[in-house]
Amino acid sequence: MIVLGIEGTAHTLGIGLVDDSGNVLANVLKNYQPSEGIHPREAANHHAKHLVPAIEEAFEEGDVRKEDIGLIAFSRGPGLGPCLRTVATAARALSLSLGVPLTGVNHCVAHLEIGRLTTEADDPVLLYTSGGNTQVIAFSRGRYRVFGETLDIGIGNMLDKFGRGKGMPFPAGPIIEEIAADGSSLLELPYSVKGMDVSFSGVLTAASKMDAPLEDICYSLQETTFAMLTEVTERALAHTKKDEVLLGGGVACNQRLREMVDIMTRERGAASYAPLKSLCVDNGAMIAWNGLLMYDAGLDISVENSGILQGYRTDEVDVLWRQQKDLF
Ligand code: AMP
Ligand code: MG
Repeated sequence: MIVLGIEGTAHTLGIGLVDDSGNVLANVLKNYQPSEGIHPREAANHHAKHLVPAIEEAFEEGDVRKEDIGLIAFSRGPGLGPCLRTVATAARALSLSLGVPLTGVNHCVAHLEIGRLTTEADDPVLLYTSGGNTQVIAFSRGRYRVFGETLDIGIGNMLDKFGRGKGMPFPAGPIIEEIAADGSSLLELPYSVKGMDVSFSGVLTAASKMDAPLEDICYSLQETTFAMLTEVTERALAHTKKDEVLLGGGVACNQRLREMVDIMTRERGAASYAPLKSLCVDNGAMIAWNGLLMYDAGLDISVENSGILQGYRTDEVDVLWRQQKDLF
């Protein structure tokens, strides 16, 4: 069976085609470019405009015909309401017109499952760092539990806002990474770890107001916030007694974050994994794959019950497709 997955929680429209052996046949990404912050209605209009061409592009890329599709999966939440409603409407229409079942996928869980599919990670702690989300997630007693998360904004959002203030285009994360490579002086910024949670608004304000060479601010911003993330991830490893870290989300494309997590895991005798960059960022292939896992576990939904879940929490999902491995 081939699954068509539609991602559309925020600025990315993704169409993925995945077969039931876990091969990614196509993974088409269309990104809305905000001039200021993401405007939800504008992002939704972008998705509506590109949906049909992106599906056609995916069919061509994967050499797939619409008759081959056996399941439609869509990102049900969490995300921006207008974006979620746009892709959900498209998914329902496709499910009805093709006469195939429908699954609604939790976006954060999908990041974890595509990592389990495409890397050697089996039962990892996921450090999920993206624009809108920052969470440390691991499987325990039938669900993906959130062991730590941001108390305010996502780390990517923090980087993008800092960059916007310095005149960088969106997304600023990769530009900050490049500039940081020339920095060397570690400036003092607020290090905000509260229990297992982190917060980024204070460091954003402090870095934005700082009067110092930009390369040193970028360097210090990365060092400080990535150390915060590495610290809580290490504590989640110790608590859950797991020995794998998986990276996911757009900020996981950052080499310095990968390096810091890699050093931490090696020092503990654990391992770290990161999917291909095209599968780290928001994408349709992860939605398709998780949709298939859900379908196989009997978790498909009727069109009548396919409402979006804007505040869909990671730990609301009954992970029936995974056997319970540990109790603690
Ligand atoms: P996502 O929401 O998962 O699609 O990821 C988008 C976010 O990832 C944006 O906030 C980007 O600024 C950020 N991002 C992408 N590449 C990098 C990078 N190399 N370093 C830091 N942040 C990045
Ligand atoms: Mg994401």
